[in-house]
Amino acid sequence: MFGKILIANRGEIALRVICACKDLGIRTVAVYSEADRDSLHVRFADEAVCIGPAKSTRSYLDMPSIISAAEITNVDAIHPGYGFLSENADFAEVCQASGLDFIGPRPEVTRLMGFKQHAREAMAKAGVPVLPGSRGILSDAAQAASLAAEIGYPVLLKAAAGGGGRGMRIVRQESELASLFAQARQEAEASFSCADVYLEKYILAPRHIEFQVLGDLHGDVAVLGERECSIQRRHQKLVEEAPSPAVAPSLRERMSTILRSALSEIGYSNAGTVEFLMDATGELHFIEVNARIQVEHPVTEFITGIDLVKAQILVAAGLHLHEVIPGPIQLNGHAIECRINAEHPKTFTPSPGRITGLNIPGGIGIRVDTAAYQDGVISPYYDSLVAKLIAFGHDRTEAIGRMNRALEMFVVEGIHTTIPLHQRILAHPDFLAGKLDTDFLSRLDAA
Ligand code: ADP
Repeated sequence: MFGKILIANRGEIALRVICACKDLGIRTVAVYSEADRDSLHVRFADEAVCIGPAKSTRSYLDMPSIISAAEITNVDAIHPGYGFLSENADFAEVCQASGLDFIGPRPEVTRLMGFKQHAREAMAKAGVPVLPGSRGILSDAAQAASLAAEIGYPVLLKAAAGGGGRGMRIVRQESELASLFAQARQEAEASFSCADVYLEKYILAPRHIEFQVLGDLHGDVAVLGERECSIQRRHQKLVEEAPSPAVAPSLRERMSTILRSALSEIGYSNAGTVEFLMDATGELHFIEVNARIQVEHPVTEFITGIDLVKAQILVAAGLHLHEVIPGPIQLNGHAIECRINAEHPKTFTPSPGRITGLNIPGGIGIRVDTAAYQDGVISPYYDSLVAKLIAFGHDRTEAIGRMNRALEMFVVEGIHTTIPLHQRILAHPDFLAGKLDTDFLSRLDAA
């Protein structure tokens, strides 16, 4: 077992990893930028090393600084959290070459999943239903046009190396294709230093449904149910829940069987999420794999009772899945997560600054994952997540009731947050009825 782990991240996820390490009796090393000197992950880790200035390219993304910090502090492994270097296969390789265990999938699997078109091909080959679309990278607009004619408009152009919704363009008719193709390539090049784009069928108002997986280093993979993340704004998740109101036990079972065999075939290990879109007929279509722990993992932890971060560490240390998750996987109750961002609730413009007043809610069925504290600063340098508010209930109605109670008692002063938006979402009849899709927020804004 590992004696000491370095956490190559910040904010709530760095604290979340520290919690798992404390529960396992593992010592922790925090790394931090100059902007994060007073952060809670620095305070609660056993040791902390400053790795550079505020700009993340010179600190949290700076591989040599992180590896030096790991060497100086003599750690056994690195947990990358999410974002930053978590899906960077080169970093996983550098860790290995430096004699450190990387807590995530093998580098070659991360690399395969990171290039979305290759992930699509690998999943289709392994028997997973994939959206109709390109079979390789699109060479030019003419090729895109003939493919789009074949599968039918609308289609979506996507950056092969993409993420965060960048490099995506919806094409509704052939006349728009050439200019949108050029735009998608340009944005992909600027964001990911790779202009490659591919194309898939655009599903109108789909539901976003994703499956949590966990694999060990010996070829065994477990599927820990699904989450629904259809409440999005600009293709970014705002509210997530587990289980999905749209997934019947028979569908869950069918998908779990398919994914277990597909992911063992690919050699997937550690935690990951396989994302799908559900069309109006209830069919699921694969879109991508996120080869890391996800922001919304706590809803799965609530309904399975499994500590996913602890499980990540144990499988990375070589334990078998049956040692990490002894009994059968059972799903109980319902959990919902609201992402509380430092943003103006109407315009979504970032609202960084000092938190002048704070009340973090609690009570039965409530969990808050946050690195925020009274007089602490939400830095403009990093993402705008202030807290993840998670509510659990025996059923969806009880979870919604507890979430409403907690939103009302969640006070953040000094900055704008998305709390009022979440209150409006939770009061909407469609949300209450479980009628969700990725256009939900535009309907709410229009109301
Ligand atoms: P990223 O990695 O950039 O976040 P994803 O492939 O995960 O991109 O997609 C993010 C979101 O974009 C999805 O949850 C969905 O709302 C929307 N989306 C992606 N692909 C499609 C598609 N083919 N049809 C309709 N919406 C899509």
